Amino acid sequence: MWTAILLSALAMTVIVALRYAATSGFFAWLTERRLPGRHLALKPQIRREIRWSLASAAIYGVPAGVIAWGWQERGWTRIYADWGGWPLWYAPLSVLLYLLAHDAWFYWTHRWMHRPRPFRVAHAVHHASRPPTAWAAMSFHPWEAITGAVVIPALVFLIPIHVAMLGVVLAIMTVMGVTNHMGWEIVPRRLVNSALGGWVITASHHQRHHEEYRCNYGLYFRFWDRLCGTDRGLWRSL
Ligand SMILES: [Zn+2]
Ligand SMILES: [Zn+2]
Repeated sequence: MWTAILLSALAMTVIVALRYAATSGFFAWLTERRLPGRHLALKPQIRREIRWSLASAAIYGVPAGVIAWGWQERGWTRIYADWGGWPLWYAPLSVLLYLLAHDAWFYWTHRWMHRPRPFRVAHAVHHASRPPTAWAAMSFHPWEAITGAVVIPALVFLIPIHVAMLGVVLAIMTVMGVTNHMGWEIVPRRLVNSALGGWVITASHHQRHHEEYRCNYGLYFRFWDRLCGTDRGLWRSL
């Protein structure tokens, strides 16, 4: 049993690391095409971003692997594989619920990590990326990585979700984590400036967090920032 758990944790670490390498690699390649030479001067920083991100991959992978084993072998969690398990309309709703819960957790832990001591201990690593690149998506100190790694493993015990919809949540998490750090806006300007853009976070919003620190703390949505008066709007020069 312990060997199976260990193997599952190991496999999940490798999957998370490969997912990071593939996604960040792809968007870094797009960035090179769009802003040629941008990464050249940032090489030492990018090397650090990759090292921290790979350490984070293990921190994310181990709990995910243990839970994946428990789901398969012990029936843990509320993840279901049968589309008949819940009404079909619930499938997109479950994705939204996961994103909203993750966003709320992220907003408050992130805001807390901007207090002087937690910042020095846990969050300075992420802000050492100046400016951040596509490789910074998982560039966290292990303490910060732990606060991120517990979210989805906790939610799968609380909120029912189809395994394919969980895949959608993870894909959104991964792609937004990368694109919001790559230093240019991939979302069409018209959409960013639309009513929807007023509520959803893209690179122009998160870049401002990296430039000015104490604002724009959200992950997916601007809801908490707006409610708490920490939304300073978009970074115009992106
Ligand atoms: Zn960031
Ligand atoms: Zn921050």
